Amino acid sequence: MPVEPAVPCARRFRTNYPRHSTRHVPNARRILNRDHPVSDFAQTVKQQADIVKVIEGYIRLRNAGAQRFKGLCPFHKEKTPSFNVNGGSQQFFYCFGCQASGDVFSFVGKIENVTFPEAVRIVAQKCGIPLPKREFSSPEEAAEARLRTKLLELHETAAAWFEEQLRSPEGALAREYLAGRGLSDEGIKKFRIGYAPDSFNALRDRLSGMADEATLRASGLFSSKEQEDGGHGRLYDRFRKRVVFPIANEGGRVIAFTARMLGTPSEGEKAGPKYINSPETPLYSKGQVLFNLDKAKSAIRTVGFALLVEGQMDCISVFLAGIQNVIATSGTAFTEQQVAILKRHTQNVVVNFDPDAAGANAAEKSIALLTEEGFAIKLVTLEGGLDPDRFVRERGVEAYKEAIRGARRQSDHLIERARLLYPGASADQKVKALNFLLPHIRRIPEKLVRDQFAADAAQKLGIDSAVLREELRQAALRRRDRVEARPAALTEVERVLLRALAITDPEGEAARRMAAEALANQPAWFEHMGAFPAMQALAVRAANDPMDVVEDAAQRALLAEALLGESRMPEADEVESALQELEERIVESRLRDLRAEIGEAERRGDYAELAVLTQQKLELDRALRQLRGPKPLQP
Ligand SMILES: [Zn+2]
Repeated sequence: MPVEPAVPCARRFRTNYPRHSTRHVPNARRILNRDHPVSDFAQTVKQQADIVKVIEGYIRLRNAGAQRFKGLCPFHKEKTPSFNVNGGSQQFFYCFGCQASGDVFSFVGKIENVTFPEAVRIVAQKCGIPLPKREFSSPEEAAEARLRTKLLELHETAAAWFEEQLRSPEGALAREYLAGRGLSDEGIKKFRIGYAPDSFNALRDRLSGMADEATLRASGLFSSKEQEDGGHGRLYDRFRKRVVFPIANEGGRVIAFTARMLGTPSEGEKAGPKYINSPETPLYSKGQVLFNLDKAKSAIRTVGFALLVEGQMDCISVFLAGIQNVIATSGTAFTEQQVAILKRHTQNVVVNFDPDAAGANAAEKSIALLTEEGFAIKLVTLEGGLDPDRFVRERGVEAYKEAIRGARRQSDHLIERARLLYPGASADQKVKALNFLLPHIRRIPEKLVRDQFAADAAQKLGIDSAVLREELRQAALRRRDRVEARPAALTEVERVLLRALAITDPEGEAARRMAAEALANQPAWFEHMGAFPAMQALAVRAANDPMDVVEDAAQRALLAEALLGESRMPEADEVESALQELEERIVESRLRDLRAEIGEAERRGDYAELAVLTQQKLELDRALRQLRGPKPLQP
């Protein structure tokens, strides 16, 4: 798995280093994840990595104080942030919406969809921690990682070779084509556009010394005819006599190619499709890549929105004209994975799809998906039905920027379309226009936005019928926002005890043991607490990570709540006073019960019972006085 260049995310760079986070883990080998006994290297990485910095590489987080950071969860749909990160001594993430939680490796593993060892390597690289020679848990994983590394090498070499071919005499026709599309040498270089010559074995000859046949086959750079016996045929170059555009992953590494037909086929030659793409390979999955995101992501974050176009040529052309927050879907409808990837960078999208019918269909599906995910969408319609590439070339970039500034809200655009599709003021036409709009309104996850849309539609369509207004109101009402299962509030005592029981640092062992022993010796003190099951699990958790030992979702939420705001471990004296407060409350509650029982015994005239109860009450009164009495002076 390729990663971006190392960013300073190692914790030694932090200035607000928590007081108690030396986090040495000597002696006992800690188990960081139930499924993976963790190597010394992973331990080293985990101790040095700052989970906040690593996660900020993927999603936006804001500081919510006391080492607690919040953001929109990358693992479930949401509009208000319920994803939390503890940047203090506990270093974990937790989502109150979908209960996703874990350490820095779980996060990277989940978001990059990679195995544990790969996640360790990614985090290490991000933090600039040198990798040991071998870090695989199984021979299969090692083989897979070797294959991916090799495929990246092959793609890099192929990309460079295609670029070379474009500059060669044979590339003249391709250069002409690109010049005709207004591409400068600089632009060609920037996007590493190349040329695949008219040959069945030129690329194969170039790469055959680098990898064995099976690896070459897995690269997707070659085709072969299936043999009659079902065996593999001889490999030949997949891309021939075509302009070749590399497709890069988010880290900017080439993982696939798109190749465009050049000129008209000569006599007897099969034309083939206009575009040929790399097939799905271990490196490349079409639905998981957004074209140009590697170059566009920093601009997207800076300007606060992504410009979404359909074609790769559109994207290149607009980018080279200076609008750098542009990405392309490559002609097909958005997949959920692509939406999730985009959501990590922004939730504002300006869409500029081709106005043609095929485009409109894919565009509509993409827009529907983005709407469901809570994106704010604006639409650009270019004058004269031009695509972005031609518009920029013919009218200039300033005119294009103007068109983007004039983008209309999706709701306005839809209402306008409804009016054009069903013109006229008859009741019949209004019902049709409304029926066109209702599904779009229902799709919006946020109630306020739906209300606004419905109100605009009623006004602009001139709907004064009470029945139709009610229909709109119902559409706006129908979709309920996700109701989050927020945990019940924890008392301060519960908070301190949970935090103490969750201590992993040997320096805090005294505090942890004090809480664990109280729990073992006086379980009755704790039974009434909402977080009792979590406390029990923590007390016997051995060397496991705290969040891993609590199975019940509601209990995990409580524990997360207690740990998220933690910037340091509780000290032994805090635990002591929490336990004392708890004991006082237990005694007080027992006294309340006793008073009631005494009253009851008096009414019954049960004097034997009354004597016993009164004696108990006296003892408890004394105990309470002692608990509340003057405390010894602190040194
Ligand atoms: Zn979530």
